[in-house]
Amino acid sequence: MKQSIDFKKYTSIHIGPKIKVEVINEIGDYSKYTVVGRGNNLLVSTTPPPLAILGEDFNYILQKNSKLIVGASTPSGRLLSYCKKNNIANFELLAKLPGNIGGLVKMNAGLKKWEIFDHLYSVNIDGDILLKDDIKYSYRYTKINGVIYDAVFNIEKGYNKELQKSFNLMRDNQPKLPSAGSCFKNPKEHSAGYLLEKVDMKGYTIGGMAFSSVHANFLVNLGGGTFDEAIKLIKKAKQKVKDKFDIELELEIVIL
Ligand SMILES: Cc1cc2nc3c(=O)[nH]c(=O)nc-3n(C[C@H](O)[C@H](O)[C@H](O)COP(=O)(O)OP(=O)(O)OC[C@H]3O[C@@H](n4cnc5c(N)ncnc54)[C@H](O)[C@@H]3O)c2cc1C
Repeated sequence: MKQSIDFKKYTSIHIGPKIKVEVINEIGDYSKYTVVGRGNNLLVSTTPPPLAILGEDFNYILQKNSKLIVGASTPSGRLLSYCKKNNIANFELLAKLPGNIGGLVKMNAGLKKWEIFDHLYSVNIDGDILLKDDIKYSYRYTKINGVIYDAVFNIEKGYNKELQKSFNLMRDNQPKLPSAGSCFKNPKEHSAGYLLEKVDMKGYTIGGMAFSSVHANFLVNLGGGTFDEAIKLIKKAKQKVKDKFDIELELEIVIL
């Protein structure tokens, strides 16, 4: 089944073409497609590869013994509400982390010390169940190449409202303009935001795109920003940081 998606509306950074994507409703061979989630970490060009999304059949939360089984198209907000209602710990950060479970697992999304892999038990990739220890992962990285259909988490009791509040507070200083979250990963010894500031990229604008004047590592759409403008900014920032600090900034945003 195909569905038409306008990526300018669908993605959080408000860039991308209107194209038909495949909708996956059962496990199968989708190797010719790049599966995307809710588009919160994407920069989609005018000529992306063939894309697919997971349909509503993968939007579910089940509890079995001490495990939480979550379909990959389940939004983070739905899982957060479920955990709140059922007094389950360790998912408080999802209050400010937009995306679907598939996207969160693929990106090993997180904030400060917390990351989604912390409480992960296994992942269904292309119909095979892989235990967490069988998957290579690190800060904002996983070696997952197939389609994620669901993820299983260990359950601990005790939803922590205070922790959720502290995550919310951390988020208050974030830019409000459309973005895809952090543009670059933090290199080992520094924060990407600090490096970008030091090379005068904070607030640097090309056309409708800019590195935010609130937080330098957020590439924001000022209105009508384009893919090409975003790429120009990314290239410029990488070059300047390389020249001044001899550090190769690595993208956190996924370019398609
Ligand atoms: C305002 C804002 C703040 C943010 N803050 C943070 C933050 O603090 N920490 C953080 O880590 N991230 C942050 N992000 C980025 C984003 O929330 C995460 O990267 C999230 O995991 C993206 O999920 P998604 O469903 O939108 O995935 P998408 O952006 O659609 O896709 C991301 C990647 O996952 C792949 N993918 C998605 N679903 C599947 C699947 N089912 N199977 C296989 N591959 C899949 C895609 O191909 C792509 O490579 C922020 C984004 C915004 C807009």
